Amino acid sequence: MSNTDRRPAARELGGRAETPGRPVLDLLPGKEVLLGESTVVRRLLPTLGRRMVGAWAFVDHYGPDDISTGPGMQVPPHPHTGLQTVSWLLEGQVHHRDSVGSDLHFGPGELALMTAGQGIAHSEQSPAVHPRFLHGAQLWVVLPEADRSVPAAFEHHRTLPGFTSDGLTATVLIGAFAGVTSPGRACTPLVGVDLDLAAGADVEVPLEPDFEHALLTSSGAATVEDAPLTPGAMLYLGTGRRSVRLRAAQASRLLLLGGEPFDERIVMWWNFVGRSGQEIAELAEQWDAESGGGDRFGAVAGWDDVRTPAPPLPPLPLKPRGRVR
Ligand code: MN
Repeated sequence: MSNTDRRPAARELGGRAETPGRPVLDLLPGKEVLLGESTVVRRLLPTLGRRMVGAWAFVDHYGPDDISTGPGMQVPPHPHTGLQTVSWLLEGQVHHRDSVGSDLHFGPGELALMTAGQGIAHSEQSPAVHPRFLHGAQLWVVLPEADRSVPAAFEHHRTLPGFTSDGLTATVLIGAFAGVTSPGRACTPLVGVDLDLAAGADVEVPLEPDFEHALLTSSGAATVEDAPLTPGAMLYLGTGRRSVRLRAAQASRLLLLGGEPFDERIVMWWNFVGRSGQEIAELAEQWDAESGGGDRFGAVAGWDDVRTPAPPLPPLPLKPRGRVR
């Protein structure tokens, strides 16, 4: 999806200054953000308490929303650079089109992974005839210097690897978990896993101790170690954990996100990730100049001239900094 804020704040991210070298349990409340006219999402990253978890830099959880009487998700063409979008549905269908020629529908259990690299444009819509409920997560992964200017690419994985054990069904979206590796392209050491807990589940799941991790619930409620976790918040686990204990009195659905703390300093603004305010300003200018399709972003079929213009740049220079609160 697109960051639809018309006055987006500049986010200065990266660096290890804010990564504790030990396990912690920090409950970080998300904030509700209005997307478009009627869709409210829970933004769990970035928040006041934390800006990145590994290379994960943006986490929106939306729904379940009853869209039976409306058009549902309608996100016209908008650009991205320097990041990957990870689209994960729990209910519903999304029609994805992009400027590298992708045109497909994806649904629950399928991974839509878009590597923006040097630049891409895409649109996301609920199909005209769609399921009643829309529920999912939109996540962004920052690309490291070595990969941030690669040609844009899109991957659709209809099935993902995972396992079921002791009331837990794990599906590996990206990276590796418990010895199971996703086919999705990953450019830094990281992990993203859907954890489906049956009512009464009490499991200890393995973690990579060099990673920092965070958990969120998309439905139900869970107890992580001794901390309660409900939808609308993210629980940051810090580093240095070899495992974490998860309990669920009721059937619950969690997302585990983690990765090696992201060393590089970046600037994130609107839908772009860059390395300087100057670069971001040039990307915004180029997107607006390429109306109708251009060399960096290209055109999305089916939209004619409909596209999302870049918001006005903030007046202050955008400087990359460490991951301070
Ligand atoms: Mn998008």
